[in-house]
Amino acid sequence: MGGEATELTRLSAAEIGIAVAAGDVSAVEVTQAHLDRIVAVEPELHAFLHVAGIGALAAAEAVDRRRAAGERLGPLAGVPLALKDVLTTEDMPTTCGSKILAGWRPPYDATVTRRLRDAGVIILGKTNMDEFAMGSSTENSAFGTSRNPWDRSRVPGGSSGGSSAAVAGYEAPLGIGTDTGGSIRQPAAVCGIVGMKPTYGGSSRYGLVAFASSLDTPGPLARTVLDAALLHEAFSGHDPRDATSVNAPVPPVVAAARQADVAGLRIGVVSELSGEGFQSGVQSKFTEAVELLESLGAKVTEVSCPHFRYALPAYYLIAPSEASSNLARFDAMRYGLRVGDDGTRSADEVMSLTRAAGFGPEVKRRIMLGTYALSSGYYDAYYGKAQQVRTLICRDFDAAFDQVDVLVSPTTPTTAFPIGERVDDPMAMYLADLCTIPSDLAMNAAISVPCGLAPEDGLPVGLQVMAPALADDRTYRVAAALEAALEQRWGGPLLAQAPALGESKGR
Ligand code: GLN
Repeated sequence: MGGEATELTRLSAAEIGIAVAAGDVSAVEVTQAHLDRIVAVEPELHAFLHVAGIGALAAAEAVDRRRAAGERLGPLAGVPLALKDVLTTEDMPTTCGSKILAGWRPPYDATVTRRLRDAGVIILGKTNMDEFAMGSSTENSAFGTSRNPWDRSRVPGGSSGGSSAAVAGYEAPLGIGTDTGGSIRQPAAVCGIVGMKPTYGGSSRYGLVAFASSLDTPGPLARTVLDAALLHEAFSGHDPRDATSVNAPVPPVVAAARQADVAGLRIGVVSELSGEGFQSGVQSKFTEAVELLESLGAKVTEVSCPHFRYALPAYYLIAPSEASSNLARFDAMRYGLRVGDDGTRSADEVMSLTRAAGFGPEVKRRIMLGTYALSSGYYDAYYGKAQQVRTLICRDFDAAFDQVDVLVSPTTPTTAFPIGERVDDPMAMYLADLCTIPSDLAMNAAISVPCGLAPEDGLPVGLQVMAPALADDRTYRVAAALEAALEQRWGGPLLAQAPALGESKGR
């Protein structure tokens, strides 16, 4: 790999956008550099399920033509991106990490996909994920596990682990993930990058293959807070094709990321989301970051959210219930896989055989859980009760946001865990989302920003900032302030401390 190409993959999205608009570099050169990087490091990371080499270069050529014709380009024109394979793309397969969708070509683009293309963003390909976004490690993918760029024997988190590994591994400066219970923030935290879950309804679900419709939210992954904000602005905003889309202006996230100041801001540390059960290095890096925010002028207090301890159990009733209903559409007739259709079997038999062969064990577990929770006789005791808990969690947030502007916690209880460690223990796997689930249930905004390396294992730790619905900009303001102060302390970005990848090839 040439030195110049390596340099292009080190640039931030903001820098690439400026360089392309100024004509200092072509979108094709930038795209080719990232495709080369993918070739070099994919054997180590397995972040992608599909790479769109020719399609990406054609999109880049189109950007270069627009510039040559004198068109003013937007801030992300010519910037490469890794798209989670749960959003539809008319020119690429969409598998959701499942065998049941193998070979399916969606006939249309998701709104997020479409808006990215319109912004001149170059979609490099589709990234690996836990099957139907159910998981915290990408180990539930039917197509193999992605690896953490910091330590290839560990998971990159999930379910948006492919996009996170791609961004942390410099295969793309930007990624799209989706967050239902933490699937953007959790992988971002354990890969040492920025991940943001917008307010529910702030980003469109049209063309997002549904897991739990009352929770699913697409959002940005990036190496810097500003890049995440630029991406957030590029694909967010009202979409008449999504009935739960919020009809309100996109919060001023880019301005907030540039403001990067916490003077006078009231920050609440959630007492229920730290302490016992948290890895010591996660706890210590989190505490240091909070002290740093205080030294920057924030007013820090401790805030109790007593019902957060019931968030995880409530989520594991609500999300599987919605999933069991959403996944009924995979009936062997409409999409992808069809097993046993030899003319001797009934449609019911073909459907059973197809679902048995096409869904992995975690998806089957969720369907059974959800079907049980929704069955008559149990509905009130499980699904109904979980919805009541959801309301109590929203009230905890409301009460907290009467006292403070944002809440903070560690993003995850531990750093990236070893591949294989939790695959046979669903409860241990579910605990990875302990801190992220409350914001999904309450449909508000939350970001994860790197806050250091845990001393005991040298792996990244994330700090989570939560804000009220539609106050997404506040999370960026705090994250950007923390990022700037920490980078001054570290003498550069955290990712600069990650080990080199792709070296084995050339040497
Ligand atoms: N890990 C959680 C789950 O398995 C959250 C997944 C997500 O946010 N998509 O359900």
